Amino acid sequence: MKVKYCSYCGKDLKDSVNFCPYCGREVTYSGAKKEKASIGWIILGFFFPLVGLILFLVWLKERPLASKYAGFGALIKFLFYIYMIIIMILFVISELIFGVDKAINHNTKDDFNHQQEVYGEDDWS
Ligand SMILES: [Zn+2]
Repeated sequence: MKVKYCSYCGKDLKDSVNFCPYCGREVTYSGAKKEKASIGWIILGFFFPLVGLILFLVWLKERPLASKYAGFGALIKFLFYIYMIIIMILFVISELIFGVDKAINHNTKDDFNHQQEVYGEDDWS
């Protein structure tokens, strides 16, 4: 049962009023309409981005704040994935550029050693 009351003087109010008829102050919707949304929704959205996305869509009108929180968590996870992918791509690119350099240096060094060995064998014979 929805009971609305003035948060200043505590008198019961009709649902339609915006100002308390007893004390004249603006009625704040501290009762049924105030939504409690916690960081928990962000965490849920982060660890289960798909659930966060579903909650975001389902609650969009009914619970806009919780919806936003869950969607925000999913968004963070999504950005986190993008960040990870970018890091991976940068890592692969750097491996392709510098890794090849290393391989070339390594090969020339090997060739040099090999030549030394060959010359060494020549000395022995
Ligand atoms: Zn009042």
